[in-house]
Order: sequence, then structure tokens, then C-alpha cells
Amino acid sequence: MKIETLLVRSGVGRDPSTGSITTPIYQASTFAHPALGQSTGFDYARTANPTRTALEEAIAALEKGEVGVAFASGMAGVMAVLALFKNGDHLIVSEDLYGGTYRVLNEIFSEQGITVSYVNTAHLEQVKDALRPNTKALFIETPTNPMMHVTDLPEAIALAKQHDLLTIVDNTFMSPYYQRPLELGADIVIHSASKYIGGHNDVVAGLVVARCSSLGEKIRFYQNAAGAILGPQDSWLLLRGVKTLALRMEKHNENALKIANWLTAHDLVEKVYYPGLETHPGYEIMKKQATGFGGMISFAVSHPDIVSTLLENVKVITFAESLGGVESLMTFPARQTHADIPEEIRNRVGVTNCLLRLSVGIEHADDLIKDLKEAFDAYQQ
Ligand SMILES: *Cc1c(COP(=O)(O)O)cnc(C)c1O
Repeated sequence: MKIETLLVRSGVGRDPSTGSITTPIYQASTFAHPALGQSTGFDYARTANPTRTALEEAIAALEKGEVGVAFASGMAGVMAVLALFKNGDHLIVSEDLYGGTYRVLNEIFSEQGITVSYVNTAHLEQVKDALRPNTKALFIETPTNPMMHVTDLPEAIALAKQHDLLTIVDNTFMSPYYQRPLELGADIVIHSASKYIGGHNDVVAGLVVARCSSLGEKIRFYQNAAGAILGPQDSWLLLRGVKTLALRMEKHNENALKIANWLTAHDLVEKVYYPGLETHPGYEIMKKQATGFGGMISFAVSHPDIVSTLLENVKVITFAESLGGVESLMTFPARQTHADIPEEIRNRVGVTNCLLRLSVGIEHADDLIKDLKEAFDAYQQ
């Protein structure tokens, strides 16, 4: 089945007793046992709930993995994956990384004796240089948030395999519609499903998919033991949201390309970071390993004062954190999503006081461009 069909089939046909087209919201914490030693497959809902199971099976099918696991947030999913490592282990991680992932690595896992090297994984020689005898995993975001560096996944995965490392990919920016790292040989995919998979800025959730069942069962064990499960209502919202992922991603991509080109030509814009621009250094790699470029654009304006003018004057676009929903959102990474990363590191990687990040929604591109134009005009006045 093609992915468009798989997306629409998510959760369909799972309730033969009524024929309900969608999976119902099983708002139940516990399930009756048919007899001593017997189970319907559902006992207590921390372990499994039918609505969550439908979602977990759907995401596993979409990412082509054996096991899908749904968490209360993307960060709960990241925590469950990082719990695979122990005191003495070393990880190599994309340096331009989601701020929350950086925070748990530096504030929580470092206390437990797990060390991390942050490198630009787009340059594999940096990964090679960071290898140590105790390195256990390579953790990649591609494209990165917010600098949009693109890592060559097949090459990075091959290097990881040579050194017996697990490859973990945070696939939030691309979604399984555009990029499926497990098919390229990665071991684990993480999603903040609060973003494109949910797609409507109305749910916080995380999804983890493991390529093989042994790894998947470890993550599932942690989910059941630690308990940060996704509730049935939110699982249902994801099952509903994901059905339109193909249509949404195509529109995000189409709008983002138009806006990236418009921004490139604007006098007050210094640089546009969008991997769908042919001038982007990752453009050719993206074409090999993904089927689209997504809806995320970062851009640097020519003066820090322009940042507040834009954020205060956009009207169709909302000044808000998060990304991946149908509504366009603009954020200021240095002060919001990436505020936990020290300024010196931020400036080195490019997350400066002039950088804005735009999550391009599915509105009409003309309205988004008009909105940006009027906000820029407010600065020039
Ligand atoms: C938002 C985000 C996360 C964290 O997910 P939450 O659902 O907010 O907990 C992790 N990685 C990336 C790339 C994100 O954008």
C-alpha cells in the first residue's frame, strides 16, 4: 500500500462489533478478565489501551518499524529512548538540536554519567572524530532545528553500524510522509507528534518506532514501567490528524517554497535556510533520502530590531512556539525554543538574535506573503 492510503487507513476497521469506521475512544482504565489467567489483550490501560494500540500500530506501519509506542509528549518519548543508555555510555548528537532534548541530556542524563558530544552530523568527519570506545549511539535530527542542516542518513547509518552504534533519528520535521529513516537502516525514530503528525496545534504527544522488536520491547517496557503514556482521547486526535498528513505536507511544502523564495529576495533578509532551495547545501541529499522538503524555514534578518517588529506585526501568522500545524507560526529560537542552550553555543551554530523560525501552515501562500510584507513594512516606516 502507498503511504497516502496507509495514512487514511490509520485506525480503520478495528471495531467489528459495531463496524465503526474510526477507532473509538476507549475511555477506560481497566478491562474485565474473561477468566482466571485469561485476558482480552487489555488489562490495565497504562500497559495498553485499544485506542492507543491502534495509534501505535498505525505509526509502526507508517515508519516501517516493528513496534510503535505512544507517549504523553515528544520529550517523554525522548526520555524513554535515552533510558536505553547507562552510566559510562557516550552519545554523539546533532549539535543544532531541539532545545528540550539538549536540556534532558545536559541536566538529567549527564548527572547519571552519560556523556554527550555535540557535532554537526552533516559533516561526518566530525562524527568520526567524536567516536570513543564507549560511544553507544548516534542521535540525529535532519534537517536540524532551527538551522536546517541536512545529514546524509545512509552514510551516517553506515558509519554507525561500522562502530556498533544505534542510530536514533528525530524525524519530527519531515514526518513519515517525506522521510522514513528506518527504511534507510536507522534503529529508532522519534516524533514529537504534537507537530506534523497531529497537525492541528491541538495535542501534545510523542511517538517512538523501533525497527526491530527486541529494541521496541525495551522501549515498551519503559513506557509501561515509567508510565508517561498517551491518553485515549489524545491518541484518537492523532489517529484523526494523521489521515490528512499527505495533503497537509504537500501544501506545507508548496507554501514554504514560495515563502522561502520571497524571503530570499527581501532587502531586510540576510539569509534563508530552507532545504528546498537549490542553493541549500543539503538540497541534493534531501532529494536522495526524502520525498519533500517540509514546511520549516529559518531566516536571519539584517538587524536584531526587525525581530520584534515582525513578531508584533504579523496577523495571519501567529507569534507562538511549536510547529507543524495547519496554522502558520513564527518563533524566535534564541529566546524561546533554544533559550536553554548557552549563548556562546547558540551564536556559534547560528541561533543568533537575528534568527526567526517560521512553521509555514496550509493557508493561501498569498495571504502569508502579504502578512510578512506588511510586517516588514512596519519596520521600514
Ligand atoms: C517539539 C519537539 C520535540 C519535543 O516534543 P514535545 O511534544 O513538545 O514534548 C522534540 N524534537 C523536536 C524536533 C521537536 O520539534
